[in-house]
Amino acid sequence: MRLNNYIDGVWIEATGTVVHDLNPSNPEEVIATFRNSSAEEVSNAVAAAHQAYASWAATPAPARGRILARFQKLLIEHQQDYVTLMMAEQGKTWDEAQGEFQKGANLVEYFAGEGFRLNGETIPSEVPDNFTYTVRSPLGVAGVITPWNFPFAIPLWKMCPALVAGNTVVFKPASFTPWIAVRIVEDLVAAGVPHGVVNLILGSGSVAGEALVKDERIRAISFTGSNSVGNRLAALLAGRPVKVTMEMGGKNAAVVAPSADLALAVGGVLKGAFGAAGQRCTATSRVFVQAGVIDAFRSLLVERVRELAVGVPTNPSVNIGPLISEEQLTRSLQYVEDAVHLGATVRFGGQRAGGPGYFMEPTVLDDVVLSMPVAHEEVFGPVLCLLPYESLDHAIADVNAVPYGLSAAIYTRDLVEAQRFIQGVDVGMVHVNNPTIGGEAQLPFGGVKGSGLGPREMGHEGTLFFTETKTVFVDYSSATRLGNFY
Ligand code: NAP
Repeated sequence: MRLNNYIDGVWIEATGTVVHDLNPSNPEEVIATFRNSSAEEVSNAVAAAHQAYASWAATPAPARGRILARFQKLLIEHQQDYVTLMMAEQGKTWDEAQGEFQKGANLVEYFAGEGFRLNGETIPSEVPDNFTYTVRSPLGVAGVITPWNFPFAIPLWKMCPALVAGNTVVFKPASFTPWIAVRIVEDLVAAGVPHGVVNLILGSGSVAGEALVKDERIRAISFTGSNSVGNRLAALLAGRPVKVTMEMGGKNAAVVAPSADLALAVGGVLKGAFGAAGQRCTATSRVFVQAGVIDAFRSLLVERVRELAVGVPTNPSVNIGPLISEEQLTRSLQYVEDAVHLGATVRFGGQRAGGPGYFMEPTVLDDVVLSMPVAHEEVFGPVLCLLPYESLDHAIADVNAVPYGLSAAIYTRDLVEAQRFIQGVDVGMVHVNNPTIGGEAQLPFGGVKGSGLGPREMGHEGTLFFTETKTVFVDYSSATRLGNFY
């Protein structure tokens, strides 16, 4: 399969070097190819989006929402294509791919309805015969740059609010998952998105991504990815009139209190740590267990981890698919090796789990201390650190002692403890008796500290990001007033 850019309503091959889109379960299998886009090709895409903006912004918001509603129907018709592609291109298991599909479909349903909710406010004026209110205006061309770990849901939760709010889009997906991006754009086009309103650019982050960010016609950048890239983009955007939202890495922790239902906690931690092979920004990467229950928790955890099957996601009995690349696998194994060198103990796993795919055993590390890199850096693989704690205050301090602040969870039956945890943890999302992962279309999603910059995504906040407030003063007094406040 050869994949192309989509610019101004035309599918067109880029002119750069050929890139192979590989199946991470079997990297010898090239499932598609595409060519890297040049800065000039990116510029063409931005020009098309810029040209299409005025007419799209003038289209009534409910009509824009109706196109998204049609798009959602098409996605559902093509559900099996998307699920199959997520398994082949990204390595998700069938359950995970179905889960991501459902989340994506919910997001589109939600944002389609936002067409009816793009309201401002009427606010009373200080002076008589003066009607004052606000409207939400679109921004212009939005650049959307996405990672490979949620190749379906993340592009949808960025592009749909941008579009319903009246912006046009240039979309640069991750180079590991270009085919899913092409399928999404095909369905947007089939739903009736006019030429130039959505443009797709395939190609490397360093060339195509940067060209997009540097383009002076861009009015918003919505980025999800690593901190190193996010920080570079923030520096490139500094001092420019561009709205920015960046969702980046995480080092999420679950806390298991003495009153917790241990079976529930173990189940949640397993799901949070090893689902999607740990390649989630919200993955549970550390579990702090109260010293009095840590022995019981550890035995139960290791017993359950032993039952997890690693392998090709098309096998229905597999629980953990491959990592995305050899580099990601080597990096995850290296974290384990370094931790062991520094005194950690491997309670389970720690090795590559066969080949040729990028498979890794689910790994439980014990005797971990916070100063070890594995305990404070993002691994993005199936590696869980087990740490004891004495008091809840100490656990909260340890949860917070990382540069990230995305998600945290507590397992407890004690309401006071749950409330203290909710107040004390410095994160964007807190779960009680639930894994660190997950979100819902209508709820804001994102983190603090190194995990996020700018407003939240998803929910109504996600839509508002793609708008500006315009304040309107309508004076019907027929009097000459030097401004409304004189
Ligand atoms: P990444 O390497 O930062 O890449 C993300 C996107 O940025 C890709 O499309 C990439 O293109 C592009 N890019 C790379 N360098 C660029 C540059 N110089 N200028 C412009 N664009 C550039 O991240 P990833 O490995 O795909 O994704 C994993 C990371 O995403 C993890 O850190 C994870 O925690 C984070 N994440 C965060 C959230 C959240 O909501 N907080 C959700 C999911 C993932 P190429 O693919 O061509 O390199």
